[in-house]
Amino acid sequence: MLSMYNLSEITVSKAPLVTELNDLLKDKNTVALVDENVAKIYAGLFKDVWNKIILIRAGEGAKSLVYTEIVIQQLLELNIDRSSNLIAVGGGVTCDLTGFIASTIFRGINFSFIPTTLLAQVDAAIGGKNGVNFNGYKNVIGTLQHPDLIHININFLNTLSDIEFTSGMAEVIKHACIHSFGYFEFLKRNAAEIKEKNPEILLEMVRQSVEIKAQIVAKDPKEIGGRKILNYGHTYGHAIETHLNIPHGFAVSMGIIVANELAEKQTALSEKEQLEIKNLLRQFGLPTDLSSLEFNALKNKISKDKKRIQSKIDFILLEEIGSPKIKAIDLCDLP
Ligand code: NAD
Ligand code: ZN
Repeated sequence: MLSMYNLSEITVSKAPLVTELNDLLKDKNTVALVDENVAKIYAGLFKDVWNKIILIRAGEGAKSLVYTEIVIQQLLELNIDRSSNLIAVGGGVTCDLTGFIASTIFRGINFSFIPTTLLAQVDAAIGGKNGVNFNGYKNVIGTLQHPDLIHININFLNTLSDIEFTSGMAEVIKHACIHSFGYFEFLKRNAAEIKEKNPEILLEMVRQSVEIKAQIVAKDPKEIGGRKILNYGHTYGHAIETHLNIPHGFAVSMGIIVANELAEKQTALSEKEQLEIKNLLRQFGLPTDLSSLEFNALKNKISKDKKRIQSKIDFILLEEIGSPKIKAIDLCDLP
């Protein structure tokens, strides 16, 4: 269990999946909601429990009210009751949907997460935010409820596509930038091993990232303000993601570069540190070249950001690696 985090019990491990997950899945009160791709790849894991598994459609489309109703219908057909426990096995989509259903059905039942993508392990599974999309708006309907258990096993990462793994690395690098120079150095030193998925190094990396996210959430469990620093790279990141239609982490990587350029003037982030961050992102195959960006269109999107207050918008800028600051920047001062 991680230090300082009593919102959920979190374990991070590299033990063989079958030995570790069998008991959890076999529990008589448990129904597992499993991403359909994960169910296919890891069919052996579920061989004795097929009768109490619900397959979740892969992709963002599963995070909808219509799909929520379909899954709830299946749960009721399995005769779940208030003593039942739901376990999500999948990426951020499966975790978000499972958490939303579990925290609303019968006014809330127990639930746990077994996140299987890097993004879900270091980010989406931790923090208690559950929700679905509505009419093109992301995560607008949801709950804030922490799962009882978050069980992270890095073996799942071996079958993840390169794009999904690389995308998740943007959040890992974000954690280092906003929290720890030591962790940043660790990522630099071990980049080759991480890319090769060396189990010891990967375990250490996921553990450190989880610890950072958990610590930030623990200080602000109800999302009142302290969590804002997790938004580093995300103001431009979100705008770039929808504008260029690229994976989340790729857009966040470019968003980090924009934030760092703003930070040069606003918080005196040195050119040397900007370059260090750019090089680390590049080492993991994340994009850092901003020449394809149409800044006018992005600015237009950002001006509609729900976090805007009059003509100013809060940015998370670094003073140095490991030391973030919240700065309200006037829209006129954006590139
Ligand atoms: P995802 O759940 O869609 O998974 C990505 C793809 O990987 C899917 O095709 C899935 O089938 C596949 N997959 C999952 N595990 C696999 C494995 N071990 N091996 C092979 N393939 C595997 O996407 P994601 O990136 O994990 O999560 C994105 C979602 O998370 C978004 O909806 C986002 O809004 C949400 N999110 C939520 C929070 C939060 O705080 N709740 C934070 C960040 C992101
Ligand atoms: Zn993100």
